Amino acid sequence: MNAWVKESGMNRFTLSFDRNKEKDFRDYYFKNSINTTRLGLLVVLILYASFVFLDFFIKGGYSRLLFEIRFFIVTPIFATSFILTYHKAFKTYWQELLFSIYIIAGIGIIIMIGIMPTKSFYSNGLMLVFLSGSVLIKLRFFISSLAGIITILLYNIISLFVFYLSTNIIIANDFFYISAIIIGMLASYHAEIYDRRNFDLLRQINKNKKEIEDVNISLEKTVEKRTIELYERNEELNNEISQRILIEEELVKAKEKAEQSDKLKSAFLANMSHEIRTPMNAIIGFSNLLNEAEDEHELNKFIKIIVNNGEYLLVLINDIIDLSKIEAGVLVVNKTAVNLNSLMTEIYNLFIINNNIVDKKLSLKFVKGLDDEKSIVITDYTRLKQIIINLVSNASKYTEKGEIEFGYTIKENKLNFYVKDTGIGISEEQQKYIFDRFMQVTTNNTPDIGSKGLGLAITKTYLKMMGGTISVNSKLNVGSEFSFDLPIKTLEHKDGK
Ligand code: ADP
Repeated sequence: MNAWVKESGMNRFTLSFDRNKEKDFRDYYFKNSINTTRLGLLVVLILYASFVFLDFFIKGGYSRLLFEIRFFIVTPIFATSFILTYHKAFKTYWQELLFSIYIIAGIGIIIMIGIMPTKSFYSNGLMLVFLSGSVLIKLRFFISSLAGIITILLYNIISLFVFYLSTNIIIANDFFYISAIIIGMLASYHAEIYDRRNFDLLRQINKNKKEIEDVNISLEKTVEKRTIELYERNEELNNEISQRILIEEELVKAKEKAEQSDKLKSAFLANMSHEIRTPMNAIIGFSNLLNEAEDEHELNKFIKIIVNNGEYLLVLINDIIDLSKIEAGVLVVNKTAVNLNSLMTEIYNLFIINNNIVDKKLSLKFVKGLDDEKSIVITDYTRLKQIIINLVSNASKYTEKGEIEFGYTIKENKLNFYVKDTGIGISEEQQKYIFDRFMQVTTNNTPDIGSKGLGLAITKTYLKMMGGTISVNSKLNVGSEFSFDLPIKTLEHKDGK
């Protein structure tokens, strides 16, 4: 207890804390005491009223006076105090009010003792006042002690100077009164200390509780934050994993593609060796036979075979060179002003004497999409010419009868070239891969000899470089139409005319 008194900063004599704490304690004390105080006042009121029978013992002339003091002064004071406990101002003045009642009740009894000094039982009344002050009506230690001391002083003064009582009796009574007060003081001192200690402990508990709650809240926040962080990290990891899976899939695809491409290249090489050997054999074989030709007709036939195979070989070697250039990425687009109509005418003149066309008596025509003077565009002359030659050459190869038409139009603000024939056509299945590099050589389902499967792949790559796309529309045994577009860049546009 001593240690607590020191720690709590309580004054040992007045039993008060420092300012703010004291104020809180008074609130707490009032809240805890109000019911006991009310009960105390009620008990005192009832006991005091019921002691009326004492007044009748007296019988003499004072009986009426005592009765009147009891019921017209003291009892109404107790009753009013009891009612006042329900008023909101009571909380502020309750100690002062009870202090005053204590003194008034004390004076009342002192008067009774003074009037009838021989009736010793009135002294007991004063003892009851001391007892109620210390325990019953919840006066604080300091106030009840003060009230007790004042009451004893009043008893001495009134008894001595108003009622002239004998000093012996006064001193004898003082002895009991002072003892009662000392015992009362001890009781109320301890009672109050325990009240204060309870209050202090409760405060500590609340403070600790608040601290724990704060810690809990901050813990919850930390946990929440960590959970969010974990969730985010999880998301990141998931994303990373999905990305890795994607990369892995891509790697597998790339590996498969590389392996396939490797296989295709090997197949291509094997095939190309074969393709080269065939015309070479023909050239060497028929060159050796030249001396042995029986007549001029046979000689010419041999020469024609040698020239045809030589030409075929040249085309093949050109294709292989182009392809390796594409593979090496060294092909560049070289743009110049190109007169499309002149180009069309050039190609026409080239093919009108082409063996396939002449031998198979195919009709060949071309369509100009622009007037001669407006047909100048900026493009790569060599590539464009090669593309159209490839397509017309295919058409002449794969057409047995009928006609071949090529030309260009302006469609949706683009140059649209086409080459159509009435040839053998291409099955839908085959249309899917005719533009793929090396594919032809592996499938090799073209009936004609001299089919290398390079031309369309090269054509498609050229067009890609020039910003164009190619497509085919074909029906077996009816004919095919290859068309491709190129962005328009005419001289007129360039000049802003
Ligand atoms: P090549 O003609 O040397 O075989 P291409 O890449 O030019 O190579 O053509 C690929 C294939 O597409 C040919 O083998 C042929 O089967 C088919 N093809 C191309 N053009 C035509 C056409 N005009 N008519 C029918 N089939 C064609």
